Amino acid sequence: MFKKILYPTDFSDVAAKALDYIKHLKEAGSQEVVILHVINQRTIDGLMRHAVSDSHIDTWLKTAKTVAQESLAEMGKELEALGFSVKTIIKTGFPWSEILNLEEQEAPSIIVIGSHGRSNIGEIFLGSVSERVIRRCKRPVMVIKREPAV
Ligand code: ATP
Ligand code: MN
Repeated sequence: MFKKILYPTDFSDVAAKALDYIKHLKEAGSQEVVILHVINQRTIDGLMRHAVSDSHIDTWLKTAKTVAQESLAEMGKELEALGFSVKTIIKTGFPWSEILNLEEQEAPSIIVIGSHGRSNIGEIFLGSVSERVIRRCKRPVMVIKREPAV
């Protein structure tokens, strides 16, 4: 039921919490994890609006990719040590849209996503990425909730 997991991460605390749950899904028969990070097109558009030069944007993008690749590789190692087979993917675009594209391509058994991400605004019930993914995806979703406010 949980054989192949699609795990999108924005490297937030809530997404990290989701990874802890994924580790335990081994006990429920999970075997494969596809880890996806999307470099947000909105960030790039913001840089362009502020007239940041193309070469600076290129440099920023390269750094963002390198840093993301290192973090994904680290997560991959942790999962492989537990016996999962892992694929790591980095895309540039709108996170919700890239997550849904990958759902089509990879046909996971389940998507494991955080209720919130980096913004993690108190009053917001669900982040905009998780809301769009949950509305439009075809496969089951496991939503890992953030820590309750103290
Ligand atoms: P918002 O982005 O709407 O201000 P937020 O940051 O609190 O709110 P979301 O961005 O919806 O919440 O994040 C919810 C979950 O979606 C994250 O825990 C993560 O699993 C996934 N996610 C969000 N952004 C990305 C991304 N850039 N790449 C991959 N997964 C993402
Ligand atoms: Mn977000």
